[in-house]
Amino acid sequence: MKFVIENFGCQMNDHDMERMSALLIDGGLTCIDDAQEADVIIVNTCCVREKAEQKFYSRMGRLKSIKAKKGTILGVTGCIAQLEKRSILDRIPFIDFALGPSNIHKINEAVERATKGIPSFDFTENGCSTTLLIKPINQNSGVKTSVTIMKGCNNFCSYCVVPYVRGRESSRESGEVLDEIRGFVAAGIKEVTLLGQNVNSYNKSSGDISFPELLRRINDIDGIERIRFVTSHPKDLSPDLIDCFGALDKLCEAIHLPFQSGSDKILELMNRGYTKNDYREKIAALRTRCKDMAITADCIVGFPGEDEKDFFDTMNLIEEVRFDNIFSFAYSPRKFTRAATLPGEVARDLAMERLHHFQDTQKAITIAKNRVMIGKKVEVLVEDISKNSEEELMGRTRTNKIVNFKGKRNLIKKLVEVEIIKGYANSLKGKNPNAKGGALC
Ligand code: SF4
Repeated sequence: MKFVIENFGCQMNDHDMERMSALLIDGGLTCIDDAQEADVIIVNTCCVREKAEQKFYSRMGRLKSIKAKKGTILGVTGCIAQLEKRSILDRIPFIDFALGPSNIHKINEAVERATKGIPSFDFTENGCSTTLLIKPINQNSGVKTSVTIMKGCNNFCSYCVVPYVRGRESSRESGEVLDEIRGFVAAGIKEVTLLGQNVNSYNKSSGDISFPELLRRINDIDGIERIRFVTSHPKDLSPDLIDCFGALDKLCEAIHLPFQSGSDKILELMNRGYTKNDYREKIAALRTRCKDMAITADCIVGFPGEDEKDFFDTMNLIEEVRFDNIFSFAYSPRKFTRAATLPGEVARDLAMERLHHFQDTQKAITIAKNRVMIGKKVEVLVEDISKNSEEELMGRTRTNKIVNFKGKRNLIKKLVEVEIIKGYANSLKGKNPNAKGGALC
């Protein structure tokens, strides 16, 4: 049987998709790209934003007609499945199975039952061990991979549905994480990204070692060249963790540190647990450790109660910090969350107007920062052939910026020095000073 997984959402979902693919392949199924040709289509869902949810339901409408024509097995996994539970059948009664994120290890069982006409619905919380190992498949030619070290969240930011669908925080035992990474190194992996909804609260309340100590131990593993982690909460960015930057040679000089708003009033309504000034102080401490550290973030515009001054404070913060990039969104209310009941709704037109102003300003900052790199020589880990051109390779700097440059295919999976010659909004163009030109091989 052939299967397709269509994925929506964050890096945790990407990782879950990898895990399901590995399990299905082990179960004898073949992974393909074309939904029209598939016997099984699984949609791995995200409910963090209204737009992703709308896209999911409209996609399911189109998949219904494929199922009607070909009898394709249709399954839904991930956060919408967990949030809606059996009521998901009210809108999409034609699906064969639905599994919450903690139950994706039952994917083969659900497919097998569907072939016999038996539906499966499983939304047990914490049903899946975080220890579930995966093989590094489909992950950029095996040069990098991600490892889930914790899952869930205890923070209950007022706008966020994650604690309701991914459950409370739980961290993996460090020995198991280290063994998994050693296994990846033996398979040729050079870069590892540690994943968690709130990765820097790893083992916060209990557990064997702290997150900084885990980083130190990974840094000692021979063969690992680069370490990253995502996503960090500003309130859990401890001085010990900040000190790891610059001190651990394999820890890349890049951090994703969502601030969500530059207004203390809105941060309090969001239940974020820090002020604008706390955030600025953390950025200053990071830049003291690593002057050219890349800093990216998330921000929500148009949160209930946001007035002109609050928005001005947010704009002020992005102009002051000069982030390398920001994922920004207009607020949309989510089921079960406290923010959905807050007064002071910002009209959609106004929220979109603010968002466009925000994004235009940030885009200019991103391009300016990328152009500052022109003429610099940087270390690039080459991942693959570039999507732009068969003649180019694509890799990333330690600061996680995409670089496209001409080079021979035997450079894939290698660390090379590249001189930056152009800076765009989403990538850099470079040249390999050692390349002699000629045909790609
Ligand atoms: S820290 Fe806040 S925004 Fe992040 S997953 Fe937890 S509740 Fe959601």
